[in-house]
Amino acid sequence: MTAANQLQVYKFGGASVKDAAAILNLKRIVETTAQGRPLLIVVSAMGKTTNALEEIFDLAYTERDYSTQLAAVEMYHNQVSTDLGKALPHPYINPNELDPELVALFKELAYRLANLSPSKTYDEGYDQVVSFGETLSSYLVYYALTSISNANVYHRGSTIVTDATWREGKVHWEETEKKIRAGIQDLFLPNGDTHIIVTEGFVGSVKDDHRTTTLGREGSDYSAAIFAYCLRAESVTIWKDVAGLLSADPKLFPDAVRYPEISYQETIEMAYYGASVIHPKTLKPLAERGIPLRVRSFLDPGAPGTLIHNCQHPALAPAFIRKTEQCLLSFESKDFAFISEENLEVIFGALAQARLKINLMQNSAISFSVCTDFSERRVQQLLALLAGQFRTHYNAGLLLFTIKNYDAASVARLTAGRELLLEQRTRSTFQFVCRG
Ligand code: ASP
Ligand code: MG
Repeated sequence: MTAANQLQVYKFGGASVKDAAAILNLKRIVETTAQGRPLLIVVSAMGKTTNALEEIFDLAYTERDYSTQLAAVEMYHNQVSTDLGKALPHPYINPNELDPELVALFKELAYRLANLSPSKTYDEGYDQVVSFGETLSSYLVYYALTSISNANVYHRGSTIVTDATWREGKVHWEETEKKIRAGIQDLFLPNGDTHIIVTEGFVGSVKDDHRTTTLGREGSDYSAAIFAYCLRAESVTIWKDVAGLLSADPKLFPDAVRYPEISYQETIEMAYYGASVIHPKTLKPLAERGIPLRVRSFLDPGAPGTLIHNCQHPALAPAFIRKTEQCLLSFESKDFAFISEENLEVIFGALAQARLKINLMQNSAISFSVCTDFSERRVQQLLALLAGQFRTHYNAGLLLFTIKNYDAASVARLTAGRELLLEQRTRSTFQFVCRG
């Protein structure tokens, strides 16, 4: 067996790197679980940094003042760096001074914000700025892990190659595999010592010109799967602040249960319907190469978590999935014609162009309704595209509930006291849209 196929991929999300204590906990998990095997660590931005960078970018792009918000992000990272420096003295970095690497990264971020080219679209500019959260956190995690004795620790920038679909780069698999082989796999040459590589999740770059792209919000799970696929890793572990894959969000449903073991197929469907525990694109590459995915708690690293792999299991407890910020759009043909394939083709084309994803749809004789994630900018674009041919109404601020593996009791529990604006059921899934 070569070093590469004993490789484990660990993904740590924002909550698991939110401050120095969290990063020190991450270090302990690595020390106690890696057991001398090669490890690739994929990290998200610290805490709520991505939201903060989104806000800063929006202010900068629309030529408003962002200095206070940027200073807060900078102070937050410097504080974590200082706290880490005190806990883990470094031979070259003076804990009483700012880490020069971090200073340089913030200089670069400030430069990008000050020089947003007006010729770039909003979405392209977004990727150049918002990707910085992962660049910063991966550096700080790398810094902390260099203090592990008997380990060779490396840091790598993104090696994922995409097309230029800003904010949702489509992976160029062959190029990515080549780049990952050269940039990461070659570092794992077996020489007895533990090799640990830290890299940024969520971030990619365009095939020919290397401009930065991102893979979509919460996309670092997907990054971990891409790395695992390309490196033919033995397994992937996503470290979260929950005990594993649960039947519902325990903050909303305190009686949520953990699935100890679940198939790829079931998990793909749950993620597709919006279970926030895993990014929906994560499962396919893993299922294709039969790489098991573990979801474990960084707060209780000894607990079993959930194992997602190729398996058969009896019927599962119903899963409740709630998607917020939904928008219900309905289209009527202006000439009161029936909704035809030709009409639908125009509507679908416009939805794709405005990059609005359909979460649920329903057709009647003279109208067609879809439920999508709400974005003011994208909905306005859609309305403009269809204004000539359709009368479009929309309602925002809605909720979309999905019950997977539903039964009468679970439907009654969730629908009680709610006015359902749209409802649909298949043999295994019950979905409805209602007011928030
Ligand atoms: N930092 C990014 C986000 O918050 C990506 C991720 O966390 O997976 O969306
Ligand atoms: Mg996250």
